[in-house]
Amino acid sequence: MDMKTEQAIDKGKKGKVYLVGAGPGDPTLITIKGKQFIEKAEVVIYDYLASKKLLKFAPADAEFIYAGKKGGVKHTHTQEEINQMLIDRANSGKIVVRLKGGDPFIFGRGGEEIEELVKAGLPFEVVPGVTSATAAATYAGVPITHRGYTSSVAFVTGHEDPTKETTNIDWEKIATGIGTLVFYMGIKNLPSITEKLIRNGRDPKTPVVVVRWASTPEQKSVDGTLENIADIVRREDIKPPALVVVGEVVSLRKKINWFEKRALFGKRIMVTRTREQASDLVAGLEEMGANCIEWATISIVPPDSWEALDQELAQLDTFDWILFTSINAITCFFDRLREKDMDARDLKGPRIGAVGATTAEVLQSYGIRADLLPEKFTGEGLAEALLEKGVTGDKILLPRALKAREVLPEKLTTAGAEVVVAPVYQNVRPKTQKAELRRQFEEKKVDLITFTSSSTVTNFLHMLHAESDEELKMLMNGVVVASIGPVTTKTAKENGLDVHIQPETYTIPALIESILSYY
Ligand code: SAH
Repeated sequence: MDMKTEQAIDKGKKGKVYLVGAGPGDPTLITIKGKQFIEKAEVVIYDYLASKKLLKFAPADAEFIYAGKKGGVKHTHTQEEINQMLIDRANSGKIVVRLKGGDPFIFGRGGEEIEELVKAGLPFEVVPGVTSATAAATYAGVPITHRGYTSSVAFVTGHEDPTKETTNIDWEKIATGIGTLVFYMGIKNLPSITEKLIRNGRDPKTPVVVVRWASTPEQKSVDGTLENIADIVRREDIKPPALVVVGEVVSLRKKINWFEKRALFGKRIMVTRTREQASDLVAGLEEMGANCIEWATISIVPPDSWEALDQELAQLDTFDWILFTSINAITCFFDRLREKDMDARDLKGPRIGAVGATTAEVLQSYGIRADLLPEKFTGEGLAEALLEKGVTGDKILLPRALKAREVLPEKLTTAGAEVVVAPVYQNVRPKTQKAELRRQFEEKKVDLITFTSSSTVTNFLHMLHAESDEELKMLMNGVVVASIGPVTTKTAKENGLDVHIQPETYTIPALIESILSYY
C-alpha cells in the first residue's frame, strides 16, 4: 500500500476538493496556496483556460482529467459530468484539485460545483485566482481604476445576448453608472454590446481595448472606441478567449503599455537544449517577452560504464588537477560521487579548473571554488590558462562527455601532462516527434533559434532531416540563428547554417544580451 492510500484510509476515506484559480494564463500568476494544493493532488480536473504548465506541479502519478469547455466548441464533459466526477473522486478518498482559469468564482461556474459538493456533504476549499479581467488590463497597460479617471469597475458577462427579451444586465445603468467595464466572453456579441452601451448613453468615443490570451506570450491586443471596436475586432480576426475593456482608463495605455513593449515581445524563439538545462535561457528570453518553444535535442544519460571514473575516484589524491568543461560534467560527476558515498571533501587534494563563469558557479553550488577560470570560456582557453601555469608532469583528470572534442586533452598531453579522460555522461538524441519539428519550420513558426553546443546543432539538423542543401535553405529561410560561441558557430556553418548572432563571452546571459541587441 502506498503512502497516499494509507493517508486516505486514516482520514476515514473522505477526500477533499480544492477549487483552485489557475490565474489568467501565465502559469506563474497562480497563488502559492493554489500551487501547494496541486502539489498534493491525486486527481486534477482542469479547464481549457487553465495553463497546462501548472499540471507539472502535480505528482506524476496523479490522474489528469481534461474537462474542456471552450465557448462554442463541443464540450468535452457536460457540467453534470464534471460535478459527478468531483463527487465520485472525493468520495473514494481522493485529494481532488479542480483547476479553473482565472478566479473560480468569476464566470467560472465554480459556485455551481461547490453547491453540488455541499449537497453531497463533501469537504472543500476554494482558492481565488487572478482573474483575467485584471490581468488583461494590467498586461495591456491599463490601470483598471485610476483616481483621475474612474472610481468604479464592473465585470460583465458578454455571453448573454443583449438583444434577447429578458436580460440580467441593466444596460441603462451600467452604460453610464460605472467607470470601467470589462466584458468576459464578449467577442461574439461585441457589435450588440457596443451598440447597447452607446444607445444607453455612453460616449461613442470612449476608448476600448480588446485583449486576447492576456498575460501569455501570445497576447494580442487591439485598440478602438465604442463606435469602431467591433469592426476592428472583426477585421483583425480576434477570436476568444479575449476580454473587452471599456472606459477612459484605457487611454492610459499609450503611456503604460509595458508588457507588449518588451524587446522580444511576440518573437517565437526555439531553444534547442537538453531538457534539464533550458530553463535559464528560456526564463531570460521570456522575461524580455519572447514566446519560447523548447525543443530538446539532447538527452543526457549515464555512460555505459562507470569503470573508468570509479577507478580514478579511488585515487583522487594522485591528481594535480580536475577540469570541468560543462555543467553536465559537474552534475554527473557529483551524482556519481554521491553514489559512491563520497562528497566535496574528497576533492581537497587536486586543484579544480572550470571552463567558464557558469561552470564555476555550478561548482560553487557544490561547495567548490574553482582555482582556475580562463579568460576565454572554451576548451582552448582553459588549455592556454593551464599551459601558462605549466603542466609538465602534472596528472589531470577530465570527467566529461563520452564523445567530446579532443583539443583540451591533446594540448595538455603535448605540454607534458598525463591526462586521464573519464566519461561521466553521454549525449543521446531524444525521441521527439521529428514531423512536428519540421512543421514548425515549414509553417514559418520560428523567428529565431538558439544553439548552445555543437551537438545541439548536429542533433537538430538530424531531427529536421532536410534532404538537400536547398531544402535546408528553404526551411531555415528567415530564421535568425544564434550560437553561443565560436565552436558551435563553426559546427553550424560547416553544416550549412548561417549564423547571425554570437556573443563575445560564451555564456547564457551574454547570449540573451546579444539577441536583445540584434532586435
Ligand atoms: N474564471 C475566469 C473566466 C472564465 S469565463 C476568470 O476569472 O478569468 C471565460 C472568459 O474569460 C473567456 O471567454 C475570456 O473572455 C476570459 N479569459 C480568460 N482567460 C483569458 C485570457 N488569458 N485572455 C483573455 N481573456 C481571457
